Amino acid sequence: MVNSCRRCGTCCSYMADVFGIMEQTGPFEYKIQYLITGVQQIVTIDPDKTYLFSNTTIQDKRPLACPFLRFDREGLALCTVHQTRPELCHMYLCNPQKPEG
Ligand code: SF4
Ligand code: SF4
Repeated sequence: MVNSCRRCGTCCSYMADVFGIMEQTGPFEYKIQYLITGVQQIVTIDPDKTYLFSNTTIQDKRPLACPFLRFDREGLALCTVHQTRPELCHMYLCNPQKPEG
């Protein structure tokens, strides 16, 4: 299956109502919780993305974004916890019919 993700970041830009950070459990480790179900999970910032995660200016531009969404120098979206991302994110399928996807 061809990966058609254009890394626009739209799918991750409205996730603040889905899960949130409950507490920091390590230098770059966080306990998150799904706000509806209460299910919790530990996620860790990918080692090569800690510098990007430390830049939180995205919260001004996209206040409803997932707390782990960032954009690189080319303006392309990336998940800073990709290696340990929430189960929900594993299941997401972008709809190629939509303009953003
Ligand atoms: S909305 Fe689709 S194209 Fe954009 S980042 Fe998400 S998966 Fe990729
Ligand atoms: S954890 Fe990663 S993939 Fe999931 S919503 Fe946040 S930035 Fe997107």
